[in-house]
Amino acid sequence: GGREGLGAYITKPESYPSSVVIYYNDDFVAIHDMFPKSSLHLLLLPRDQTKTRLHPFEAFEDAEYLAKVKLETQKLRKLAAGELRRIYGKHSVQEQTRQAALSADPPPDELPPGRDWDKEVICGVHAVPSMNHLHVHVIAVDRYSERLKHRKHYNSFSTPFFVPIDDFPLAPEDERRHPTREGYLKRDFICWRCGDNFGNRFVELKKHLEEEFKEWKMV
Ligand code: 5GP
Ligand code: ZN
Repeated sequence: GGREGLGAYITKPESYPSSVVIYYNDDFVAIHDMFPKSSLHLLLLPRDQTKTRLHPFEAFEDAEYLAKVKLETQKLRKLAAGELRRIYGKHSVQEQTRQAALSADPPPDELPPGRDWDKEVICGVHAVPSMNHLHVHVIAVDRYSERLKHRKHYNSFSTPFFVPIDDFPLAPEDERRHPTREGYLKRDFICWRCGDNFGNRFVELKKHLEEEFKEWKMV
């Protein structure tokens, strides 16, 4: 438990049901976050014993290792995007348009593109992780979840405290290397979708996130 809670997934992935461990191989374990901060929130856990105890900034200084983690993260992003399509595709105007065109008789030469769900998934690490084992968040952009209960929950995914995996390697002078926990997590709430500023009004933010979620899945 506590800060060591992710270790058991790495050592014994086979002992969990598929509702918890999504897949595993020699090098990675993909799991559902137990306290999801979005409608879909997965974690990629690298298993390499020489890396799992390192801070992500340190682990990702190794270019070869970073490339490997990025590749697996892309794989999990695709999987997450497919899941979003499966869950929300039926609501999505873009998907419905595409389906309608596909089933038309005769179908058009040029099909409208379906929604790119890959873009609705963000992947990265926290500048100051709370859990000790190296992990990459793979999370739907919506930030819509009952488990999103605290100010820091929102801002840890919505400020530079969250460092996208594709931003690595970080430049030596990158400010995010020296996060002032206060600075990022105590910032005003800015809606991830429309950019409105909710100041420190968490209840209002939560209400707004629900409205944005309903629209987001329909696009
Ligand atoms: P961090 O803030 O360290 O980047 O994120 C750690 C993540 O691990 C959090 O999103 C938290 O909800 C998740 N978490 C904490 N304990 C457990 C656990 O025992 N099992 C799973 N699956 N996720 C956990
Ligand atoms: Zn908004």
